[in-house]
Amino acid sequence: MFRNKKGSKLTISHIHITGCCFLPDLTWLGNRMLYRTYSPKLFLCIEDFEYKVFVPTITSKIHTIRFFLSGNCYNFFCNQSIRDRQGSLKREEDGMKTQRILSGMRPTGRLHLGHYTGALENWVERQNETLADGSRAYETYFLVADYHSLTTSLDTSPLDQNSIEMVTDWLAAGIDPEKSPVFRQSRIKEHTELFLIFSMLITASRLERNPTLKDQIRDLNMDAITYGHLGYPVLQAADILLYKGNTVPVGEDQIPHVEITREIARRFNNQYQHPGTGSVFEEPEPKITRFSRLVGLDGTAKMSKSLGNTILLGDTEEEITAKMRKAVTDTEKLRKNDPGRPEVCAVFSYHKRFTRSQDIDEIEKECRSGALGCVDCKKRCVDSIIRELAPLHEKRAFYADKPGLVRQILEDGEQRARERAQATMREVREAMRLG
Ligand code: SF4
Repeated sequence: MFRNKKGSKLTISHIHITGCCFLPDLTWLGNRMLYRTYSPKLFLCIEDFEYKVFVPTITSKIHTIRFFLSGNCYNFFCNQSIRDRQGSLKREEDGMKTQRILSGMRPTGRLHLGHYTGALENWVERQNETLADGSRAYETYFLVADYHSLTTSLDTSPLDQNSIEMVTDWLAAGIDPEKSPVFRQSRIKEHTELFLIFSMLITASRLERNPTLKDQIRDLNMDAITYGHLGYPVLQAADILLYKGNTVPVGEDQIPHVEITREIARRFNNQYQHPGTGSVFEEPEPKITRFSRLVGLDGTAKMSKSLGNTILLGDTEEEITAKMRKAVTDTEKLRKNDPGRPEVCAVFSYHKRFTRSQDIDEIEKECRSGALGCVDCKKRCVDSIIRELAPLHEKRAFYADKPGLVRQILEDGEQRARERAQATMREVREAMRLG
């Protein structure tokens, strides 16, 4: 903590932050400045200061924050980064491997509740999970999969704005860019290089047998698919292995994808050995995760933007109320006092996820007995959703106001991701004696 001595005010000329650009962690309280470090209990506090030229500058090499105070420079290392590094080293010394996760989403713009319960919540949990020694259980990387979006649409005009909107929702939901680099796939050219190499290691017939591809062809009524679409699990393998991801959180239906990644890693290792390290890639393990998929407001299909049955994470209370009014309930409960069947009602499925557990049994009982009408039930559901989303809305408003900051966060993430990707590609080229 810095306090000025009586009569000598501290002067901040500028603050230089490297490695992270998490300016929201700077809080100004009158003439007191708090910098929340990466341990929630630890604050750097500078009291009673004047600033001459306050210029926060951000670069991305070393994880340091520098305060230039009264002509002196004070360095603070980001504690979380150091603890993570210490944790990784300790695990390696103990013969344990660092668990690394790479997950991504296509840039579809603003996210909805289905994305939140189906992936984002899990991302935030994994990002914040710690081991007994306080170090992080996983290193996490989050990818804006813009190349992947070309498999279903060649129109690139909405991609930039959609990426910003999506990352704004990630940050609002709790993705911490200091802990988890967030980056656009197309900004790291190594993805395409590794994809090309991997595409030689798997046959077309193996990819044609991919069950997810068959589902997509059926769902999207496609009569032909492109070469790139057939190969999207190969691009996924490149995404994961470029960052040496060794844990892939998946629902049971996505295990075939992980299997393709494992096959490609195995095939590469059998074919090419690095002169120093031997096998370049680890076969990633699927981590079966129970993702809760939300049904859409129409009650028939999962929540999806293309079906127009969504509640967006950024929707206001009025917007959620208006959408909820149209939500499909039990079609046999026509009047308020008719007994209902919560198990066939979309609104009840939202209660199960967003309403406090002590209230869910009561709602179910009252629905079945006819004591609760759908209008009141929907109001209670909106209240529950709003309560859950309130902190997210607050953070979203902060970032939505600062698209420049979101871009800066992406660029910083891209710099960090690129360094790791380039290191992997150096190993790949050395193993292949290419390039
Ligand atoms: S009372 Fe609630 S749970 Fe029952 S059918 Fe109506 S909206 Fe659904």
